[in-house]
Amino acid sequence: ARAIRERIGYSDDIRDDAYLNNEYKDLSYSTEEYFENILQNLEYAQKKRLRKLRVKVNKDEWVTGAAVVNAFYSSSKNQIVFPAGILQPPFFSKGQAKSLNYGGIGMVIGHEITHGFDDNGRNYDKDGDLKDWWTPDSTQKFLDLSKCIVNQYGNFSWDLANGLHLNGNNTLGENIADNGGIRQAYQAYKNYVKEHGEEPSLPGIGLSHDQLFFLNFAQVWCGTHRPEQAVNSIKVNVHSPGKFRVLGSLQNFAEFAKAFKCNKNSYMVPDNICRVW
Ligand SMILES: [Zn+2]
Repeated sequence: ARAIRERIGYSDDIRDDAYLNNEYKDLSYSTEEYFENILQNLEYAQKKRLRKLRVKVNKDEWVTGAAVVNAFYSSSKNQIVFPAGILQPPFFSKGQAKSLNYGGIGMVIGHEITHGFDDNGRNYDKDGDLKDWWTPDSTQKFLDLSKCIVNQYGNFSWDLANGLHLNGNNTLGENIADNGGIRQAYQAYKNYVKEHGEEPSLPGIGLSHDQLFFLNFAQVWCGTHRPEQAVNSIKVNVHSPGKFRVLGSLQNFAEFAKAFKCNKNSYMVPDNICRVW
C-alpha cells in the first residue's frame, strides 16, 4: 500500500506540443467521414496496444486521459489514477461538506487502493511485477473470505435483467474493492472529524453527516438500464450493477445500519456479514 504511486488530475505530457504532435501524427480525421474516423480510432488504439507487446512496462505512463469521469488502479504499475474528470461534484467539491467528499471521491480512492489487494491485484508485488508474495496461510484465508462475497453477490437477482442473478465470480474483484473502499473512506472521514471537529449540519436537510456520507456514496450509483443492456451487462461487466454495489457493500458495513437506525430485521442487517478487508 505504501508503494502505490498516485496520479491526480492530468499528465504533464498534455501541455507539451511536441509530445502531442508525435502522439497523434498518424491520425487525420475527415469532417465528412464519421464512420471512417471511428475505424481510424480503433486501428490507432489497437496498434498502440500491440506496440507494447514484449516491451518493458513504462511504469510512469498514465493509463487514462484527463477528461474521464472514472478512476483506475493498474496492477502492473501499482498505480492509482484520478483524472480531472472525476474530481467534480458529486464526487468532490471544495465547497461541499466533507462528509459528501469522503462518501464520494473518498470511497473511490479507497476502492482503487483495495484493487491492489483483490483477487487480481494480490498477484502483483509492490513494483507491479507478477509475483506470489503472500504466505500460503494468508492466501488460504483470502480465498475463504472471498467465497463469502462470491455467494452474497451471486444471490442478488436483478429485476431489470428479468431476474437474472449476478455472477459472483466475475464481479469479485470489484466487489472486494467496493467493500474495502467504503470502510476505508468512512475511517478516513472519522479521522478527519477527530482532527478538525464535527462539521456544522447542513440547514434544511435533516440528515446527519454519517447519513450524508452514505447518501452521496449511493447517489453516485443512481442509474437505469434497458432490459437488453442489463442482461448484457450481467454477462460481461466486471462491476455489479449500481444498485447492488450499494446494497452489497452497505449490508456488510454495520456503520450504515447504525447511521440510519435500521432495526435488526432489516434487509440491510443480514445474519451473515462478509469482509475481506
Ligand atoms: Zn474497480
